[in-house]
Amino acid sequence: MRDQIVTLIHYGELSLKGRNRSLFENKLLENIERETGGRVTKYRGRFVMEGGNPENLQYVFGISWYTKAIRLEKDVESITHTVLTEISPYIKEKNSFGVFVKRADKSFPCRSMELERVIGKKICEEYDARVDLSNPDLSVFVEIADDAYIYFNKTQGLKGLPIDVSGNVLSLLSGGIDSPVASYLMMKRGCRVNFLHFHVFSDNKLVLNTKMNSVLNALNRYQSNSKIFLVPYYQFEMEILKVLNTRGHELVLFRRFMVKLAERIALENDFKALVTGDSLGQVASQTIDNIAQITKTTSIPIFQPLITYDKQEIIDLAKQISTYELSIEKYKDCCSIVSSNPRTKANTKQVQVFEKSMDIDRVIEKTLDLVSVIQL
Ligand code: ATP
Ligand code: MG
Repeated sequence: MRDQIVTLIHYGELSLKGRNRSLFENKLLENIERETGGRVTKYRGRFVMEGGNPENLQYVFGISWYTKAIRLEKDVESITHTVLTEISPYIKEKNSFGVFVKRADKSFPCRSMELERVIGKKICEEYDARVDLSNPDLSVFVEIADDAYIYFNKTQGLKGLPIDVSGNVLSLLSGGIDSPVASYLMMKRGCRVNFLHFHVFSDNKLVLNTKMNSVLNALNRYQSNSKIFLVPYYQFEMEILKVLNTRGHELVLFRRFMVKLAERIALENDFKALVTGDSLGQVASQTIDNIAQITKTTSIPIFQPLITYDKQEIIDLAKQISTYELSIEKYKDCCSIVSSNPRTKANTKQVQVFEKSMDIDRVIEKTLDLVSVIQL
C-alpha cells in the first residue's frame, strides 16, 4: 500500500448510546459528504475522508476535531520510517517532542505504549531531541485503526450534534444581532432551523435585496438548503394603528402576533418548536412578565437559547459565526410601531382587550395569505 493523504475526523460520542449513536453517526457522515464532496468511511468512532474539501469541515456540527493524516500500512517499521521522514523539516536539535499512539485495532500486536517508546527512541537517536509529553514543541500522533494514520496537529470542530438529528424548528429571525446567534445555537443541537422573518416591505421579494439575504446565507453555511418564510407585517400595523391608545403594549402585542403566526406555520409544516433571540432583561419586552405574555400564546415550545447571555457574549459569538458585521448594517426593521415607553409588565386583561378590538385572529388569517417561502 502506498502512503496516502486523507482527512481523519473524530466526533464526540460520550453521551451517545444505543440507537442514538448510529443515527448520529449516519447523519454526520451524510452531512460531511454533502458539505465537502469527499468520500467517508467509518471505523470504530472515527471517520476517514478521501478527497473533498476539508476546509468545509469547519461548518459541520458534530465534529470534535479533524486533521490531515498520512494513511499507511499497519507495520511498526513503516510507521517509524514515515514518522522520521515527515518530521525532518520541522524538528530541530534539542527540540522536545511527544509521541501519542492510539490503538483502536486491539488485534495489532504492538501495544500503544510500546509503539510510543519504539518511535520515540528512534527520534531521539536521529535528531538529538528530547521527550516532553506535557508541552512538546512537536507532537506526533499515530492511530492504529483499519490502517495506520500519522498526523501532527488537530483542528477543533464545532462540536454539538449533526444537523437533522433533532428535528425541525422555526426561528423568528429579525434584522438584529441576537436571533441569528440563537438560530446558530439551535443548529448546534442538531436542529434543522427554518426561518421566519417579518418585514416592512409591501412585497416579500424586496427582502432579498437587503442585508437579510446575507444573514441568511451566512447561517446557511451551517446547514444548507435553509427554508425561509417571508411575511409582511402591514396588516398588523394597519390594525394596531386603529387602537387609539395601547398604553405601551405595542411591543408585547406585536410579539404575540409574531408568535401566533409562527405557530400556525410550524403546525402546518410539522416544525416542533419556535426559537427566538430573547435575553432576559435586555429590553422591555424581555422581562419575565412580558416573556410570559408572549410564550403563553402558543401550544408548542419556544426555545430561547440566549436567555442567560450577556450582550457582549452574544456579540462575540455573532462575530465568530460572521453574522455580526451583517447584523449591524442599516435596515428598516419592524419597529416603527414600538412606543418610546414600553411597559415592562404587560397587563393580561388589557392585552386581551386590545387583541379583541383589533380582531387579531383575522389579522393573522389575512397575513397568512401573504406568506411566501424560499429555499436557499
Ligand atoms: P434581535 O437582535 O434578535 O432582534 P432584540 O434584542 O432586538 O433581538 P427584540 O427586537 O425584542 O429583541 O426581539 C426579540 C426576538 O423577537 C428576536 O430575537 C426575534 O427572535 C424576534 N423578532 C423580532 N423582530 C422580528 C422580526 N422582524 N421578524 C421575526 N422575528 C423577530
Ligand atoms: Mg430586534
